[in-house]
Amino acid sequence: MKTIEPSHRCHATFSDKTTQDFPMRWIRADSLSAAGLYRRSAKKVWFGVCGFTHHIVRTDENGALDLMLSTDLFISKGQCEMAKHCIAQACPLNRTPDSKVKKMMHIRTRDGIEAVKTFAQRRYCEVFKKHHRDGGMMLPKS
Ligand SMILES: [Zn+2]
Repeated sequence: MKTIEPSHRCHATFSDKTTQDFPMRWIRADSLSAAGLYRRSAKKVWFGVCGFTHHIVRTDENGALDLMLSTDLFISKGQCEMAKHCIAQACPLNRTPDSKVKKMMHIRTRDGIEAVKTFAQRRYCEVFKKHHRDGGMMLPKS
């Protein structure tokens, strides 16, 4: 089993023997500065940020339904319930093949998958700074 990121200081105390429920926080794509270029369309896309890794792990593929239903994720003894449906390839618990990531992100090219990997590399620890146990939606600062 892969060890659970002791290098990530937010969860330095979490081990592969721990069982815990983590929040999923949804942020609108236009909250990200990199999405500034696509501001108009970015308002229609939400990203799910995982409370364990603080990486972006998915988009709202099913629209509002995802925002309402995916408010947390469960990790038990090093197994994540989202492991096979996650774009954060930096997470040690991720077991999602590239082919699935492509489908999740509607990607058709090889360059596209590299772009997603780079994009999902960054952590959004600040999203969980206040109310770190709460899931749900978060609107961009206006
Ligand atoms: Zn963090």
